[in-house]
Amino acid sequence: MSQIENEVFSPVKVNNWCKGCDICVAFCPRKVFTLSSETGKAEVTRPEKCIICGLCQLLCPDFAIDLKEPQNANG
Ligand code: SF4
Ligand code: SF4
Repeated sequence: MSQIENEVFSPVKVNNWCKGCDICVAFCPRKVFTLSSETGKAEVTRPEKCIICGLCQLLCPDFAIDLKEPQNANG
């Protein structure tokens, strides 16, 4: 039997070299990120809100954000 993942599919991901500068948390228009008090890093806490605008990826000084390309059928 396959195990169903609990996590909601997220179009955005923060890599573990995030230094917690808070830029993405502050600038994401959809408030997708929260700065974790445990790890001191940005966490994706509202993945369903992400509109894949690309702003976080553009602003992150450490290139710590992975963004999934919008799924377009044509090229
Ligand atoms: S902008 Fe980049 S380094 Fe700064 S908190 Fe967000 S993911 Fe981490
Ligand atoms: S792509 Fe846009 S909406 Fe999605 S997390 Fe980044 S800044 Fe927020």
